[in-house]
Amino acid sequence: MKSIRARLLLISSICLSVVTASALLTFASFDQYSRLNSEISMSYDIVDAMLAYKYKTLQAGDDSTWRARAETLRPKFRADAVKAVLKDPSSRNLRFLSRSEKEYRQYLRPLTGYFLKRARFFGALALASTLIFSFGLLMYVLVRLFAPIHELSSRMEEFVHNRYSYEFAVPAPNEIGELQSAFDRMAQEVLHQIDELKSLDKAKSDFLNIASHELRTPLTSIKGSLALLNSGIMGKITEGAQNLMTIALDETDRLIRLINELLDLAKIEARQFPLHQEWVSSDELIAKTLQGLTGFCQTAQVRLEVENPMNVELHIDRDRIQQVLTNLLSNAVKYSPKGQAVTVRLESETEDGQMRIEIQDKGRGIAPEDQALIFEKFRQASSPQNPLVKGTGLGLAIAKTIVEQHGGTIGVRSRPGEGSTFYFTIPKWRRTTNTQLRAVV
Ligand code: ADP
Repeated sequence: MKSIRARLLLISSICLSVVTASALLTFASFDQYSRLNSEISMSYDIVDAMLAYKYKTLQAGDDSTWRARAETLRPKFRADAVKAVLKDPSSRNLRFLSRSEKEYRQYLRPLTGYFLKRARFFGALALASTLIFSFGLLMYVLVRLFAPIHELSSRMEEFVHNRYSYEFAVPAPNEIGELQSAFDRMAQEVLHQIDELKSLDKAKSDFLNIASHELRTPLTSIKGSLALLNSGIMGKITEGAQNLMTIALDETDRLIRLINELLDLAKIEARQFPLHQEWVSSDELIAKTLQGLTGFCQTAQVRLEVENPMNVELHIDRDRIQQVLTNLLSNAVKYSPKGQAVTVRLESETEDGQMRIEIQDKGRGIAPEDQALIFEKFRQASSPQNPLVKGTGLGLAIAKTIVEQHGGTIGVRSRPGEGSTFYFTIPKWRRTTNTQLRAVV
C-alpha cells in the first residue's frame, strides 16, 4: 500500500470508523442516562400521586389515568404495588409502595452515573480522534504532498531559468515520485531537443556564413566586369546589350546587398557585433544619413524632410544606428509614391522617457496582420499594389536586433492606403546646447 491515495483512504477510513463508533456510543450512553433519569423522576411522581390518591387530593379523572399507566409500569413489582394502592389506599399498601420505589431509585442511581461516565468517555474519544485525525492529516499533507510539490516547482523554476541540472535520486514510490520522474524525463527530452536545434542552427549559420563569404568575392568581380563592359571602355555595345547589362548589374547589386545583410545578421546572432557606444548628435546623425540617401531620393522623386529637430545627443553605436535609420528611410522612400515627402521626427515626450525617432511616409501602408511579421527574418508584407519592389526581407530584422541591443524598441503604426510611421527608441540621451542646421533634401 504505497500510493498516497491508498494511504489517505486507509487512514481516513480507520479514523472515520473510530470517530463514528465513538459518536454512536456517546449518543447511546446519553440516551440511556436520560431514560434512567426520567425513570427516577417518575418514581417520585408515582409516590406523590398515590399519596394524593389516598388523601383524595388527586385531580378528577387522574386516578383512571394512573390505572392505565400501572398496566405499563416495569418492573412488574412496581405495577403490582401501584395497582394495590389504587385498589386499597391503606397505609400498609402505601408504605410498601414508598419503600419499593425508594429501593428502585437506589438501584437506578448508580446506573445513571455509569451511563453519564460512558457518555463522557466516548464523547471525549470522538473529539480526541477527530482532533488527532485532522492534525495527522494536516501533517501528512504538509510533509508528503506540499514539501515534494514545492521542491518539484523549484526544479521547474530552475528549468525555466536554464539552471536545471539532473540529480540522480530514487523517486518515492508514489504519485509524487511518478510526477518527479515524468518531469525529469520531459526536461531531459527538451534539453536534448534544444541541443539538437542549437547544433542545427549552428550548422545553418555556418553554412550561410561560408556560402555568403564564398559568393561575395566572385559577385564583386562580376559586378566590376559588368560595370566595365557597360561603360563602353572595352568596346562599343548595342543598346539592347546595354539594357541587359543594366538589369544584370541591378540584380548583382541586390545579391551583394543580400549577402552583406546575411553576414551582418549572422554576426549579430553570433554576438560578434559588439556595440561601440558614444555620444552622437542627433542632428549630425540625421544629416549624414539623409546625405547618403540623396541619389536614391532623386531617382525615386521623393523628398526627405526633418520635422521639429531637437538639440539632443544619443548614446549609440553611430554606424549601427545609421544603418537602422538608412534602412527605415530607404524603405519609406521605396514605398512612397512619386512627389511625396518622407518625414523624420524626434519625440522626447514618450511614456518611458526614451528618445523616439519616427519616419513617416505617405505610401501604401501595411496591413495589420503584416505589421508584426515584417520584423522577422525573410518576411515581407504581401504587396499586390507594388509586386515589383524587390527586397531581401532582412533589413527590418537587422534593425530590430540593433535597436534591441541598444535597449530600445522598434515598431510601426500604419493603415493600408494611408502610409506608415516606423519608429525606434533610444533609452540613453541628453540635451545639448549646440544647434546645427538640419538637412532638407
Ligand atoms: P526589404 O525591404 O528588403 O524587403 P525589410 O525587412 O526592410 O526588407 O522590409 C520587410 C517588408 O516590410 C518589406 O518587404 C515591405 O513589405 C514592408 N515594409 C517595410 N517598410 C515599409 C514601408 N515604409 N511601407 C510599406 N511597407 C513596408
